[in-house]
Amino acid sequence: MPEVDLAILGGTVVTPAGRRSANIAVDGGVIRSVGSERPAARRNVDATGLLVMPGGVDTHVHLMDPGSTDREDFPTGTSAAAAAGVTTIVEHSHGQPVRTVDDLRAKRDYLAGRSNVDFGLAAHAWPGQTDVAGLWAAGVSFFKVFTCTTHGVPGHSAAALRDHFEASALAGAVSLVHCEDESLTEAAEMLLRDQGRRDPGLLLDWRSVTAELVAVAVAALLVRRTGARATIAHVSNQEVADYVRAERMRGARLAAEACPQYFLLREDEVHEHGSLRKFTPPARARIDDDEAQLWRLLREGVFSHMSSDHAPSTLDQKGDGDIWDVHFGLPGLDSTMSILLDAAARGHLAYEDVARVYSEAPAKQYGLWPRKGRLAPGADADLILIDPTTTRILRNEDVISKAGWTPFDSRAVSGRVVQTYLRGELVAENGIPLGAGSGRFLSGAGSAS
Ligand SMILES: [Zn+2]
Repeated sequence: MPEVDLAILGGTVVTPAGRRSANIAVDGGVIRSVGSERPAARRNVDATGLLVMPGGVDTHVHLMDPGSTDREDFPTGTSAAAAAGVTTIVEHSHGQPVRTVDDLRAKRDYLAGRSNVDFGLAAHAWPGQTDVAGLWAAGVSFFKVFTCTTHGVPGHSAAALRDHFEASALAGAVSLVHCEDESLTEAAEMLLRDQGRRDPGLLLDWRSVTAELVAVAVAALLVRRTGARATIAHVSNQEVADYVRAERMRGARLAAEACPQYFLLREDEVHEHGSLRKFTPPARARIDDDEAQLWRLLREGVFSHMSSDHAPSTLDQKGDGDIWDVHFGLPGLDSTMSILLDAAARGHLAYEDVARVYSEAPAKQYGLWPRKGRLAPGADADLILIDPTTTRILRNEDVISKAGWTPFDSRAVSGRVVQTYLRGELVAENGIPLGAGSGRFLSGAGSAS
């Protein structure tokens, strides 16, 4: 083999298929070989004692740019991603949504040079107004669909949802569906406001598990009946996952997205932490066994993949107004990979599962695979080197996101990403982002170009 750009030597290479000791040759930003032979390279990296895994693929990320850059922007959010070991994101923001092909082109142009990781962009579906075929062909990664009016985005009734899925099935497009039933959340809100409730605990009554279940049942049924393909966003508990599984067994082409906050945070924390636990659906786990069951569902593939649902606000923003008024959402890009590696160290997952649920499976769901989410010859050289033996404490002061805090502050985690490579370029080391805005736009699966 002629001399290549980069060789990563002596690490334990982990993919969803298993692990083995191997050397990796990288040239021109692409993985050229993975094997026992030692490539001749201009740059050698000793990975002895380290795991080498595909970079994270986080497909549910809000970077608020353009839109609400006081909360986050692409340079800060993607710096957090790179430092955490995430090399590909799919982004969409509610403040300035992509609704037309022109919106997509404008956002793509605006973001040139602003991203430190590779990125796709999703569109927002607007009831009765969305050019599904046009946007899909223009290269959006997926359509974000709400069943309830949230963050200023209108919800889809069953009829509007059916129309969207019919158009999506025809175009071959995929959707990410936020499921909470509009009539149930609206009725609950009226009642709670009538009662004068302002305590943070009202979130649990307002955004009930029943409202989530009703919306999931309707969306899942319509996905099956229309032959569309969709992901149920941020599935909050086992009962919801069971609905998805049941419709999948009836033939629905349905994925279920998991997020760390539903595993690690507990329902009753909202009383103590208030708006810092305001996200929707809210956390529903009550006891450690609830968490253990969710990890089992992720391990067994009932949950298809993990995303952060990174939706940051600063502590000041979270403190500005009462529980009704503050933004929904949590920061998560900084912490999701750490939590997955820690889950592997604790035995909830295998490292192979981490490569599956946070690289391969999301890349496949949104048409990024085999270029992304895969550690094999021909794939982009998006690689992370992990020291599985290091234990550290997650701390607010280490958060790179503009949020400046994490709901997992003071949690001890095992495993640390020591280097992140994006197409063979070192973009973060020991938690320090080195990014120079080299992230590229990735077209979705419907794009002709
Ligand atoms: Zn979201």
